[in-house]
Amino acid sequence: MDSLISVSYRRGVHIPEAGLWLDPHFASECAFVSHAHSDHFARHRMTICSELTQHIMNVRYGKRAEEAFCAVACGGSVKRDGWRLTLLPAGHIAGSSMLHLRRDADGASLLYTGDYKLRASLSCEAARFEQADTLVMESTFALPRYRFPSRGEVLEQMHTFIQKAFECGATPLFYAYSLGKAQEVLCALADSGLSFMLHRSVWEMTQALRGYLGRLPVFECFDASKSEGKVLVFPPASKRASSLRKLKNLRTAMLSGWALSPNAKYRYGVDEVIPLSDHADYTELLETVELVKPKRVFLVHGQVQEFAMDLRARGYDARALGKHDQMELGFGLSTFGLPER
Ligand SMILES: [Zn+2]
Repeated sequence: MDSLISVSYRRGVHIPEAGLWLDPHFASECAFVSHAHSDHFARHRMTICSELTQHIMNVRYGKRAEEAFCAVACGGSVKRDGWRLTLLPAGHIAGSSMLHLRRDADGASLLYTGDYKLRASLSCEAARFEQADTLVMESTFALPRYRFPSRGEVLEQMHTFIQKAFECGATPLFYAYSLGKAQEVLCALADSGLSFMLHRSVWEMTQALRGYLGRLPVFECFDASKSEGKVLVFPPASKRASSLRKLKNLRTAMLSGWALSPNAKYRYGVDEVIPLSDHADYTELLETVELVKPKRVFLVHGQVQEFAMDLRARGYDARALGKHDQMELGFGLSTFGLPER
C-alpha cells in the first residue's frame, strides 16, 4: 500500500480508497461538506459535516428525506471503514471545518482545508491545524499582492466609509455575502451605536445564527421607508434589486479580498472597496504549509498553477488539482455572480 493517501480529481477532489468526495459540486454517495456556502453545496446520499453546518444547510436549503447526515462537533472525530475523520475549525464562516483524515492501517494522514483563514474572526471559531502527510488546500488568494490589512485597519476603513456617507446625507450600504461576511460586519460594529437594516437573506441567516454569535448591534429587516440613518447590508447579487432603486442617495462599499485587485472599485461599480475577506491571504497560505508540514501539497481554487510553482521553489512537492478556475473577480461576466468568497 502506498504510504500516502491517494487523491484524484474528477470534477472534484476524490479520495478513492475512503470512498469520499471533498466538497463536490454534484450529488455523490458520500461527501465531506466543509461549510454551507452555495458553491460547496450539493445533495449527497451521505453528508459528513459539522453540526453547525448541518443546521445552516437545513435552514438555507431545506432537508430532504433521502439525505443522511453524519454531523460531527467541530474538533470531534468519527470512525468510518478503517479511517478516522476529525473535523477541525476552519475560521472561514460559522460552522466551517477542515477535514483531517487518518488511515487506521498505517497512520497515513491528509488534511483538506476547504475555505479557511488563519486571521481571528468575530463570527466563527479560529482555525486549528493538525500535521498531515498530504495537504489539500484552497489557494484563492495565492499571489503575493494579496496580503490583507489587519482587522483594525479594515474596521477603520468601514467606520470612515460610514461616517463620510452620513456626512454627505447619504445612506451607507455594504455588499457582503449573506452567510459569513454579513455576520462578521455586524459583530465588528456591534459596539458602534449604529443601527442596521439587512436584506431579507442577510436577516434570515443572522437570525438562524443568533445563538452562535456574540454581541450584535440593533438590526432589522430592510424597509426602504425607514432606512434613513441606518447602515444597510445587502448581498452582492442584490445590486440591481428594485428595493434599492427607491433609495436616491446611496454610498456603496464592496467587502471582499478582491479589493486588492487593480481597479476593483470600478469593476465592481461601487463607491468603495474594503478588503474584508473570509479567506486566507498569501502570507497565511504559506504559513499553513509550514504549520501542517506535509510531504506533498495539492492545490484547489484560484491561482493553483502559480502557487504550486511558488511552493516548489520553496522545496515543497506541490501540484495543482484541476484547472485554473478563473475566479478572479469574474471580470467580463457577471461581476456580482461570483461564488461566495
Ligand atoms: Zn466559502
